[in-house]
Amino acid sequence: MNLISDRKLRLLACAIARNGWNELYDRAHRRAVEIGEDYVEGLATTLDLRAAYNDATAKKIDPTTRGRMLMYIAFICASADVDLSVLLPLRMPFYYNEWSHLIRDIAGNPFRKTNWNMPADSVVRSDLSGLAYGMAREAYELRKGDNGALDNERLLVVADLLEDIGCEDVDVLKHLRSPGIHVRGCWVLDRILRKV
Ligand SMILES: [Zn+2]
Repeated sequence: MNLISDRKLRLLACAIARNGWNELYDRAHRRAVEIGEDYVEGLATTLDLRAAYNDATAKKIDPTTRGRMLMYIAFICASADVDLSVLLPLRMPFYYNEWSHLIRDIAGNPFRKTNWNMPADSVVRSDLSGLAYGMAREAYELRKGDNGALDNERLLVVADLLEDIGCEDVDVLKHLRSPGIHVRGCWVLDRILRKV
């Protein structure tokens, strides 16, 4: 059983690939990542996914260990079944430190569960709750660059708005205000946007 959803697992693969974006030397490998992200949003079909996967896997294998690892992650982004365990023979733990902040951002703290939830009707409201939802949506959609990072300034505004509507969850507020990189699948944004 996976601890996180297939959507989050695919977004994690995409975040890891984007973390090494400049080292993905082939356009088809980058395309596999983009299509994986589109698939998550319902903007690409399983046929698009398969085509991107076939294109990417037909390219020359990167000769370096690191390049090869990133290339395999790009394949995973566009594969029908997202399975990061195939990376184990590539000594994935060796890279765990580099990826740990992405894993934490998406999976959250497994030892601390928050019960806080965004009011379900926020999406249609025109008050501060609706504003917080809209700003969270913008933060999710409008990323800053190829590395897939969300705009931390927007997340700070979301945190302030949540406080204004009565959110007192320290973990939620602290996470939104943490200066590190946040990516699509960020556990707090997912809570706000009611994504799993
Ligand atoms: Zn985050």
